[in-house]
Amino acid sequence: MEETTSTIMAALSTLTPSQLTDLTNSILSSTRRHHLRLTFLLSSPTLFSLTLHHLHTLSLSQKTLLIARHLLSSLHHLTRHLQPASPPLSTAIRERELDAVLLLLLFCETHNHNPEALEAPFSDWRLNLSKLFSDTLLTLSSSYSSAPVIGACKGTILIPFVERVSRCWRLVGAMNCGGGGGGGKEFGEVAASAAAVVALPAVEVAVGGRECVICKEEMRVGRDVCELPCQHLFHWMCILPWLGKRNTCPCCRFRLPSDDVFGEIQRLWEVLVKSGAKE
Ligand SMILES: [Zn+2]
Ligand SMILES: [Zn+2]
Repeated sequence: MEETTSTIMAALSTLTPSQLTDLTNSILSSTRRHHLRLTFLLSSPTLFSLTLHHLHTLSLSQKTLLIARHLLSSLHHLTRHLQPASPPLSTAIRERELDAVLLLLLFCETHNHNPEALEAPFSDWRLNLSKLFSDTLLTLSSSYSSAPVIGACKGTILIPFVERVSRCWRLVGAMNCGGGGGGGKEFGEVAASAAAVVALPAVEVAVGGRECVICKEEMRVGRDVCELPCQHLFHWMCILPWLGKRNTCPCCRFRLPSDDVFGEIQRLWEVLVKSGAKE
């Protein structure tokens, strides 16, 4: 199995059976919604050419962002039982954007497996794609109906979903690199989200002799300091400017939520990696 896929499967293996059922159901309903949308898109010549035109107007970085948002909403599904609830970055995608990203992903898929479908004249694209898509859909829908128990669900719904997530992850990584000198899967430093910072608790220092690693001064007993979710303590005056630049703990690199799509992808990815490694 590919590395990305096995990392996700390792994380999912830590879920309880009822969490797994819940996850499978939510994935099933979003997958069905996407399939319906794509079927509609491919059956309407007008909607198809409008969406194609919209895709043509997007730059490479806008396309990357589109796929990145789609990836983020999938990662939200996969991590919702693995981390304490955090104020989520809105992943609600407008219908036009959803159409665009679904078509874009279908193009990538087709380009990999059936490149001849796209070598045909422009005017044949919709029919060629419809044909390919309805073949895939037939296979998928027969596996949905034969998946009444969890074991089978896990195989027929979760695995294809996880593989789609892996493909998106690769695409986003590759497109980000292509932009010029990008760091591949490392998306760089981003500020912590204001909502996450405002929600940080103030705690009173109970024991003496602990130092704030940012200013190297002792945190005096009785003083109000900031506690990060990883339980590391800092002076408010020290940690606030820090979180304005990066969303990681200075001691252990625990990641706080951010308002950046790529930062959030990185954070949720680390949640998956850590959960899988606990096993
Ligand atoms: Zn300090
Ligand atoms: Zn920490």
